[in-house]
Amino acid sequence: MTLLEPQHGPLPHAAPTGASAPFWAGCAEGELRFQRCRDCAAVTFPPVETCRECLSGDLAWEVSSGRGTVYSWTVVHRPATPAFAVPYAPAIVDVAEGFQLLSNLVDVAPEDIRAGLPVAVRFVAVTDSLTLPYFAPEAPEETP
Ligand SMILES: [Zn+2]
Repeated sequence: MTLLEPQHGPLPHAAPTGASAPFWAGCAEGELRFQRCRDCAAVTFPPVETCRECLSGDLAWEVSSGRGTVYSWTVVHRPATPAFAVPYAPAIVDVAEGFQLLSNLVDVAPEDIRAGLPVAVRFVAVTDSLTLPYFAPEAPEETP
């Protein structure tokens, strides 16, 4: 059984913008950050300048528990560019605080991925300047 691994080395990646810079800084510090509107309390992700619900510009950053479940996924065997090592599993994760995040699953065999699988964030520094939030199956509770 082969477990999926994080990518290594330079990857095609969009530069952080003003809106997303705090998110990427959070990843580098081991925090999964998201925004919540101070006017209507809506959670929003990915990072934006104005609330998607009420258009308020008063958004506050919060730190997620980093826990969630797999909403959907695919397993890639033929990469879009040679920069990506295969196989890898892009996945949409339902994060506990009420937003979805497109990430990649690691430390799980492709055949063991299922909808609803409990996962937790795992930050991986793929280069000196880029830390990505991957998700891995959440360890089962220890029973004493
Ligand atoms: Zn709002």
